[in-house]
Amino acid sequence: MTEGTVHVVGVGLAGLSAAARLTQKGRRVIVHEAGAQAGGRCRSYVDTVLNMPIDNGNHVILSGNHAALSYLALIGAADRMQGPPSADFPFVDLRSRERWTLRLGDGFFPWWIFDDARRVPNTRMREYLVLARLLWPRSKTVGEVIDCRGALYERLVEPFLLATLNNAPPEASAQLAATLLRETIAAGGRTCRPLIAMEGLSTAFVDPAVSWLNAHGTEIKFSHELHRIEFNGPRAVGLDFGGEIVNLGVDDVVILAVPPTLAARLLPDLTVPTEFRAIANLHFKVDAPAMPVMTGVVHGTTQWIFAYPGRLSVTISAADTLMNAPRDELAREMWREVAMVAGLPAELPPWQVVRERRATIATDPQQEALRPGAKTAWKNVFLAGDWTATSLPPTIESAIRSGERAAALAA
Ligand SMILES: Cc1cc2nc3c(=O)[nH]c(=O)nc-3n(C[C@H](O)[C@H](O)[C@H](O)COP(=O)(O)OP(=O)(O)OC[C@H]3O[C@@H](n4cnc5c(N)ncnc54)[C@H](O)[C@@H]3O)c2cc1C
Repeated sequence: MTEGTVHVVGVGLAGLSAAARLTQKGRRVIVHEAGAQAGGRCRSYVDTVLNMPIDNGNHVILSGNHAALSYLALIGAADRMQGPPSADFPFVDLRSRERWTLRLGDGFFPWWIFDDARRVPNTRMREYLVLARLLWPRSKTVGEVIDCRGALYERLVEPFLLATLNNAPPEASAQLAATLLRETIAAGGRTCRPLIAMEGLSTAFVDPAVSWLNAHGTEIKFSHELHRIEFNGPRAVGLDFGGEIVNLGVDDVVILAVPPTLAARLLPDLTVPTEFRAIANLHFKVDAPAMPVMTGVVHGTTQWIFAYPGRLSVTISAADTLMNAPRDELAREMWREVAMVAGLPAELPPWQVVRERRATIATDPQQEALRPGAKTAWKNVFLAGDWTATSLPPTIESAIRSGERAAALAA
């Protein structure tokens, strides 16, 4: 396949990354998005209750996420991510009220494990050696490989894996945990510096990509929902956008960068993950006191607190049990925890609760086995999306790498 048009369907980060790489190679690309906005599950909007822009969820990437950083560099947005100069993670334990900062250093090896002063409080070096069992991929759960109890688990392994796998770690895939740990904690602090889009996800990952694509001649058709694909033998021959049919030429290619349920509806007999996990975010409109941009919370419902200008925000991963909790109760309960960590008065400030029921696919071994590769049964149809088989958990890095992989196959 050489000179046809590439139709990218879905303009989340996977679609944006595929479109950007193909445009960079000089290919003719048309992007089709069902919604009125780009970014999919990684976007900003103005919240009318708080009267300020917020993100659909607090997102963190790490300095070792090389595909995400290279995508940001390509679209001219490398400077939109901010974070501490080193891989420092401040924590608070709500039960014991202890506070500590995990300092992973700046190197390529986790030397901090050998330093009494830098290890997680109340943990011993040999416990970390047991953790090394997680580095070897296997089709088991994390709970089958390590003991999911004790200070090291509660204060390091659980917060880290919960945030990155969006799944209760004991049931999560040990294979995914292995890839993650190898690319991050085991690779030293240099790969673990947290990076956050302080001015909003869209200003970093989305708006610059849309501008860059437009400036390079790639058209994005919004409110252009793909309803059906027509096939003839081993090829897709037409795209049905409701009233409009786009006929595909012999060299035309389709990259489907849509959610898994939709991909399975469009492609007969495609196997996709079927279970999802939720993420809850709570936003409190308050002038944040001097505190770190990101604080880990142990032994609370709150897992991470983010301090943005004029707003404190809570992330709770694998939050399925909170999806039906009354919003005001949840806000009051979370504010109690946030106020305690931030040293703020008990009076509840203006708040918003944002719950994404299908934030990511579940990351247990059964769902992991259902993730398809980029190639499909049709020669000119490729898949992209954080949920495809990238060997990574469903994250920004996974979405962007999947887009690059589909672009390479389509080019
Ligand atoms: C609350 C929350 C917090 C998160 N936190 C983090 C984090 O801290 N770090 C991290 O790395 N990741 C995080 N993630 C995961 C990250 O957001 C996703 O991995 C990434 O955004 C997925 O991108 P995608 O392109 O694969 O999918 P999507 O963003 O789902 O994109 C799919 C696109 O397809 C479009 N579409 C659907 N149907 C059609 C159709 N018929 N025709 C055309 N277009 C269609 C959709 O509108 C959408 O734009 C979080 C996710 C959520 C929800």
